[in-house]
Amino acid sequence: MAAGRSVALIAAGGTIAVTPPSGDVQEHRGVADLTPPPGDRPAGVEVVPRDALGLSSRRMTADDLWTLASAVDDEIAAGRDGVVVTHGTDTLEETAYTLSLLVDTTVPVAITGAMRSPHHSGPDGPANIRAALAAAADPALAPYGPVVVFQDEVHVAGLVTKTHSARVAAFGSPAAGPVGFVAEDRLELLLGPPPVTALLPRRAAPSVQVGLVYAATGIDGSAVETLSSDSDAVVVGALGAGHVSPSLGAALVECAEAGKPVVITSRCPDGALLTNTYGGAGSEQELRRAGLHFAGTLSAPKARLRLLFGLSAGVPVGELFPTRRPAPAH
Ligand code: ASP
Repeated sequence: MAAGRSVALIAAGGTIAVTPPSGDVQEHRGVADLTPPPGDRPAGVEVVPRDALGLSSRRMTADDLWTLASAVDDEIAAGRDGVVVTHGTDTLEETAYTLSLLVDTTVPVAITGAMRSPHHSGPDGPANIRAALAAAADPALAPYGPVVVFQDEVHVAGLVTKTHSARVAAFGSPAAGPVGFVAEDRLELLLGPPPVTALLPRRAAPSVQVGLVYAATGIDGSAVETLSSDSDAVVVGALGAGHVSPSLGAALVECAEAGKPVVITSRCPDGALLTNTYGGAGSEQELRRAGLHFAGTLSAPKARLRLLFGLSAGVPVGELFPTRRPAPAH
C-alpha cells in the first residue's frame, strides 16, 4: 500500500457506535468516538472523519441511503484516496448495494460495522474499522465497487449477505465467498474484480414505494392485496427457482396487468432463477410469460432497492431487470 493515504471515515450509526441503553433510550456515538488514534490505525493512513447519520438499520429509509450516498460522493470529490462507512449490520448489505448503484466509486469504498457494541465484552468494531481503513487505502480495491469488510474478509456488494444474527463472523457471500482478506493491515485480493454492478444510468432521489412479499407454504394472493394498492411496484421473494402458489401468482399477474412492475427473486441465498423447467400455475414459465420481471441472482432486498432507485430515476423496469422469456407454450 502506498504511504500517505487519506481515507474518509463516515459514521452512519449501528451497534458499532451505540451507547449503553438508558431506559428505553439508546443513542449512537458520532465519528469522533469511532476514529482510531494514530497507534490503532494502519501506518500511513490519515483519517478524515465525517458524521452522516446516527441510525440503527431498522430506522434507515431510502432517503437516508440517498443522504449517505451524497456524503460518499462528497468525500470522493474532495480527493480522498478511499472511503470507509460504519453502519448497522442488519441492512449493511443493502446500503453497500445501493452505493454500487448510486456512487461512481473511483476510489475504494469499504463498509463495516460491529456485532458487539463498544460496551460489550470483546467489541469487534475497532478491528473491523482498522481492517476497513487498510482495505480502503489500497487503490487495487477500487475496481471491485463498494465492498463489505468484516472480520478481515472482503465481500462485494452484489453478493454479500448477513448470514448470522449474532456472531461476530456475521457476513458471507454464499454464492462465491470473499474476494479477499486483510492481514497485518495489508489487503490481499484472492480473485480478480467480479462483474460489478453498473451505476444506474440516471440518478434521482427516491420517490416511489416498492413493496416486498415473501412466498411460503400457504401464502396466497391476499398477501399482495394491500401491498399492491400501497406500492408503485412489488418485489417477490419467491420459492426456489422462481415459484409462488397459484393464488399468489394470479394476484401478481393481476398487479402487473394493472401496470405495476413485479420483480421475482429467490428466497434461496444462491442459485439461478429458471426459465424453461417448471410449467403450470405459479411456475417460473407462467410468471415469465405473463410479463413479470426476474432479478437474476440478486436477493429480494437488493432487488427492491434497485427497483426503488431505478424507477425513481425514470429507468424502465425492463432495463433494470432484463428478463428471459420461456419458449412459447405449445
Ligand atoms: N441492530 C443493529 C443495526 O443494524 C445491529 C448492528 O449494527 O449490528 O443497527
